[in-house]
Amino acid sequence: MDADVTIIGAGVVGLAIATELSRYYDQVFVIERHEHFGMETSSRNSEVIHSGIYYKPGTLKARLCREGRDMLYRYCREHDIGYRKCGKLIVATQKEETGQLEEILYTARRNDVADARMITVAEAAEMEPHIRVVQALFFPSSGIVDIHGLMQSLENESANREVDFAYGCEAKGIKQDSGNHAYIIHIQDTDGSFFDFTSRYVINSAGLEAEKVARMAGIDDPQYKTWFWKGEYFALLNGKHKLINRLVYPVPEPNTTGLGIHTTPDLGGRQKLGPNTIFLEDGKTDYSVDPAHAKEFYRKARRFLPFLEPGDLAPDQAGIRPKLQKPGDPARDFIIREEEKKGFPGLVNLIGIESPGLTAALGIGRYVRSLLQKYD
Ligand SMILES: Cc1cc2nc3c(=O)[nH]c(=O)nc-3n(C[C@H](O)[C@H](O)[C@H](O)COP(=O)(O)OP(=O)(O)OC[C@H]3O[C@@H](n4cnc5c(N)ncnc54)[C@H](O)[C@@H]3O)c2cc1C
Repeated sequence: MDADVTIIGAGVVGLAIATELSRYYDQVFVIERHEHFGMETSSRNSEVIHSGIYYKPGTLKARLCREGRDMLYRYCREHDIGYRKCGKLIVATQKEETGQLEEILYTARRNDVADARMITVAEAAEMEPHIRVVQALFFPSSGIVDIHGLMQSLENESANREVDFAYGCEAKGIKQDSGNHAYIIHIQDTDGSFFDFTSRYVINSAGLEAEKVARMAGIDDPQYKTWFWKGEYFALLNGKHKLINRLVYPVPEPNTTGLGIHTTPDLGGRQKLGPNTIFLEDGKTDYSVDPAHAKEFYRKARRFLPFLEPGDLAPDQAGIRPKLQKPGDPARDFIIREEEKKGFPGLVNLIGIESPGLTAALGIGRYVRSLLQKYD
């Protein structure tokens, strides 16, 4: 056997899994098709540490977000990774929205986000003097993190425990080698050559490609059908970034799949607005930002950022969420499944790891280990 465990994908989730599993297995491989870790969704997001308020109680999203959040803050402190527990406001800008704040607070309490609280207009104005608000919820445990620093630290920690990273290597096939209780993984590297190796366990943490990788192994489950949703960001210009200190979110619009265009500070002091939610019907990865969407951003954000002028926004980055729902479908949970029941013992699929995947990453690592524990 060449490896005990092979992890396909070196995004923040694959790296967190590698770090966790390297405590239990001698030979852990990470296969990544790019030349570096974190070249896809993990470098194209808001870098927010979510407190875990929106998710249906009892779901993996709710549980792993809460556990992952606490683990992440601890990890950042212990490994000297940049983060700021800046807190988050969800603001109602008209009386009709205040009922939604009550609903969010109720879900937050059911998800054990104990520090969430309703605040007065005066308190909100003290925290953020430049926003418009009629009522707000405050979440002290939300924050932001330097995700590149986090991924670098996870890679270093794994490498120190002898995890092997194969960059520029794309998994092209996975075959079961039942006699040996293993999998044969067929790889193509950047110069076009192919090679195979065997692994006792396989973890499919391939982000946007996870459904495809599952199919590659022979698992064609309609529940794993993944839809791509783009999220664009615009940077705040003309010194306006200095007028906001925290994460400020609107009340989510009904029937949308995002959290609403919100402010996202980064550790360098910049502010972005975003992301919006654009369904990519053709399933292609398109990271362009349409400058014409500045109008929509302006219109939506000006409701709670009254100082905003049309010229204050410049196209920034975009990221793509792998969601398990298409427009009109209800929200779906993460799928993180060890596939013994389907006849694939020791193969773990992670499908639909959209937000809060960054916040949950360390919790996901621990959860994946728990799924393999029965084989010890
Ligand atoms: C716009 C946006 C905003 C978000 N904001 C937040 C936020 O504020 N907070 C939060 O908690 N979460 C947020 N998220 C979610 C978070 O970014 C993701 O859940 C997380 O980055 C997923 O990490 P991953 O490792 O699963 O995927 P990825 O980072 O996509 O990594 C998967 C890796 O697998 C590799 N791969 C794929 N196929 C193969 C193959 N066949 N062989 C080898 N390698 C392969 C890819 O190259 C890639 O590097 C956001 C997402 C988006 C899109």
